[in-house]
Amino acid sequence: MNIRLSEELKMLKEMAYKFAVAEFTPHIRECDEHEKYTPEIRKKAAQNGLVGAWIPDTYGGAGAGILGNAVITEELSKIDMGIGLNVVAACFGCESIFQYGSEEQKKTWLPPVCAGDWVSAGAFTEPNAGTDVAGYKTRAVRQGDQYVINGNKMFITNGTVCNFMVAQCITNPDQKKHNSFSLIIVPADAPGVTRNKIRGKMGIRSSDTAEIAFEDVKVPVTNLVGKEGKGFYELMHFFDTTRVMVSAQGLGLSEACLETAVKYCKERTAFGAPLGSYQLTQKKLAEMAIMIEALRGLVYQSAALIDEGTPDYTLAAMAKFYSGQTAVFCANYAVELHGGYGYIDEYACQKWYRDAKILELYEGTKEAEIMTIGRFLQTK
Ligand SMILES: Cc1cc2nc3c(=O)[nH]c(=O)nc-3n(C[C@H](O)[C@H](O)[C@H](O)COP(=O)(O)OP(=O)(O)OC[C@H]3O[C@@H](n4cnc5c(N)ncnc54)[C@H](O)[C@@H]3O)c2cc1C
Repeated sequence: MNIRLSEELKMLKEMAYKFAVAEFTPHIRECDEHEKYTPEIRKKAAQNGLVGAWIPDTYGGAGAGILGNAVITEELSKIDMGIGLNVVAACFGCESIFQYGSEEQKKTWLPPVCAGDWVSAGAFTEPNAGTDVAGYKTRAVRQGDQYVINGNKMFITNGTVCNFMVAQCITNPDQKKHNSFSLIIVPADAPGVTRNKIRGKMGIRSSDTAEIAFEDVKVPVTNLVGKEGKGFYELMHFFDTTRVMVSAQGLGLSEACLETAVKYCKERTAFGAPLGSYQLTQKKLAEMAIMIEALRGLVYQSAALIDEGTPDYTLAAMAKFYSGQTAVFCANYAVELHGGYGYIDEYACQKWYRDAKILELYEGTKEAEIMTIGRFLQTK
């Protein structure tokens, strides 16, 4: 099923898949074992228009839209979700600059990221507050034409490899909580920024994740993105679109699980017949296929609506929620259908099982998505 995919998008999808097969495959195992980030692959991906593909060409992107970015993410995640994240999230945080930044900010910060020369990060989560976005404590105090920033950020994707980050800070502490935040661009090499790589992740181990401390970090006030005091709402809007990308990750991973499981069940025999001939096996494969079809509809539809200028953010939250469920479900069945072989690293499904879980945690936990959908239903 190819909802709304033009010939152009189908070609982009195929190109992304071929790129991932050729460029990711030789490195998957090593990157997983040694938690290795992949700058060369990111650079090559940028040359192929796969980094910041949703960014219009005026700012260096491929202008493929959110749906184009979703199909790229889907295909890269089929081969490896961690390395794929190094490509599609190399511009993480740029969504805010694109949505709310000045023309000068867009021209300064977006093109080098799309070219693969720079990497960005979105620094929101803190050690003591993740889901509770209004509970962040990082403070930016205005002194003349500078902000002086103090605070800590946690679990930041690209944290140690980024050139700059878009950080959520309290700038207006006297205002009500939701009107006290602002998004501010912080160069990663600014004096007072300390970055420590977090090791030992369960999955997506090639993705860089870091803990970041800001100690009297000075940035010009021109680094404010959007309106002072509106950062909370701007961040909510940011997640509304980035959730679609995360949903597409789960779609790609689930598709890989199904394809691999179907193949294995044709080849592997038990009691004198292929596993796939047994109804219990078929039930598992059929359930995976049904969920994947439903998920694809949610992902493509929520992406296409954003491109058409009629976003449905509740649908995007549904896509994100269902993506995590589907990926975890499919990876689990893929492991089970491989029997003991599913549990060893000779087969990819043990890694997919580990990678899948993050989809229920980052970019809003599955509970956070339920809260978003539930709140919307109360408005009806
Ligand atoms: C690999 C990785 C990469 C990440 N990348 C980034 C990044 O680039 N930038 C960034 O800012 N953050 C990033 N994060 C952080 C991630 O978004 C948070 O971990 C996530 O939002 C959850 O926040 P928390 O860990 O503080 O958990 P908490 O908010 O403490 O939640 C703990 C549990 O309580 C539940 N819970 C919370 N509130 C409620 C409630 N009201 N009702 C019911 N249940 C509730 C949650 O759903 C969860 O199950 C990343 C995390 C990981 C692991």
